[in-house]
Amino acid sequence: MESAKNLPIAIIGAGPVGLSAAAHLLERGLEPVILEAGPAAAAAIEQWRHIRLFSPWRFNLDAAAVRLLESTGWESPRPTALPYGGELIDNYLAPLAATPEIDSRLHTRARVIAVTRQGLDKTHVGDRDTTPFVVRVEHDGAEVRDHTVAAVIDASGTWSTRNPLGISGLPAFGETTATDRISSPLPDVTGRDRASFAGRRVLVVGAGHSAANTLINLSELAKDEPRTTILWAVRGASPEKVYGGGDADGLPARGQLGSRLRRLVEAGTIELHTGFGIASMKTLDSGVSVEAADGRTIEADVIVPCTGFRPDLEILRELRLNLDPAVEAPVELGPLIDPEFHSCGTVPPHGAKLLAHPEKDFYIVGMKSYGRAPTFLLATGYEQVRSVAAALAGDHTAADTVYLQLPETGVCSTDPGTSCDVPTATEPKDTGSSSSCCAAPEPVLIGIPTGLAHGRSGQN
Ligand SMILES: Cc1cc2nc3c(=O)[nH]c(=O)nc-3n(C[C@H](O)[C@H](O)[C@H](O)COP(=O)(O)OP(=O)(O)OC[C@H]3O[C@@H](n4cnc5c(N)ncnc54)[C@H](O)[C@@H]3O)c2cc1C
Repeated sequence: MESAKNLPIAIIGAGPVGLSAAAHLLERGLEPVILEAGPAAAAAIEQWRHIRLFSPWRFNLDAAAVRLLESTGWESPRPTALPYGGELIDNYLAPLAATPEIDSRLHTRARVIAVTRQGLDKTHVGDRDTTPFVVRVEHDGAEVRDHTVAAVIDASGTWSTRNPLGISGLPAFGETTATDRISSPLPDVTGRDRASFAGRRVLVVGAGHSAANTLINLSELAKDEPRTTILWAVRGASPEKVYGGGDADGLPARGQLGSRLRRLVEAGTIELHTGFGIASMKTLDSGVSVEAADGRTIEADVIVPCTGFRPDLEILRELRLNLDPAVEAPVELGPLIDPEFHSCGTVPPHGAKLLAHPEKDFYIVGMKSYGRAPTFLLATGYEQVRSVAAALAGDHTAADTVYLQLPETGVCSTDPGTSCDVPTATEPKDTGSSSSCCAAPEPVLIGIPTGLAHGRSGQN
């Protein structure tokens, strides 16, 4: 960062991880500029504010952010309570964004559309490592400006790029023309978006926690609006993996989701279609006809796409990245979280070193760092940005000393030999409590076992 040392550091996205990155940079005396596409911080979580988190407050707060907030007289929520997305915003992220330190550096309605090196496209070596970055930003949906910065932390999440409904990773034939029959991935069916779902035939596609949440909420809606029909299509032969966490889930709230869903299917409240890989869809006068690869069809008024997310790599096209070919996470992280092998939110604590790319001083953090893997936890992201801020400040000892910042019950172990069987990680600072959420002592990992056989969220 020699020639760029007086420039700020761009943070793309003011979600929980981007805001934490800012707090850590400020503590290190570095100058962040936070670029947020939405009208306010936490714009992605705003879309699912009606959904309850499955991890309690104690896992959801970042230490540097808390230090910044405490200087304003902020009071921490009860550590064991499970917040709704809306509470995470109202009681933590909005106050954090409103601190003078963050507020003065936060640009909202500022969508990053590209990142490159000043004067160098991807093919040019030049003095790449010491050349500033240029971040191209669309402000207020109109004016496009370039921001010159010393380093870039991409914390833009994956919410805005959902996986397509079609099989093979591509949109189904007709999917792009049926967009007005497809809702957002987690609509508020009993609240804000009720009118679009009440008394209608609703098809939920996918087999993860988002599908489970939406199906359960639709069953609540159907109690008041009995003409509501709930249809559920999964690609696999059985929904067992969605039900599967149950009692084996390290986070009881998440485990209970599956059990409740199973009861609703068994009671006939939800009509389940297994082995339903969507090949095409036809827009009808009212509604849409969805056809599976084996020729079966389902007619619905509206589709809820719970097919998971993927990172937007287009904005990073001029950078030299090293991504896992399957998961699209930084190459060394990919194998540790690949949903083909890992079901847990468990991963060894990791930081700047593991997240590094050939493009020096560029990092992908937070939800986006997990690429297509769905098991990201906020606590993991907070440790990522603590380490990245240390690395950018030149404190390599602190950057490389990654450790678990989870208190007591946040530290879980898994039985060796399960799908979560990954190398033993750094011993956490605080494992003394007998109330640990998992009983088995080794290996110690950051995260919470899901009890599922694999970690796919969108499909099974
Ligand atoms: C329904 C749901 C429940 C979850 N529950 C939990 C839980 O209980 N516990 C847990 O630990 N984790 C949970 N997660 C996972 C994860 O912690 C969250 O997704 C979290 O919001 C990720 O934070 P983030 O900052 O990485 O990304 P996001 O929260 O997605 O924030 C990214 C920000 O970047 C902005 N942005 C996107 N593109 C651009 C761009 N091009 N330019 C500028 N800004 C951009 C977005 O508007 C957004 O504000 C949950 C996720 C979901 C979807």
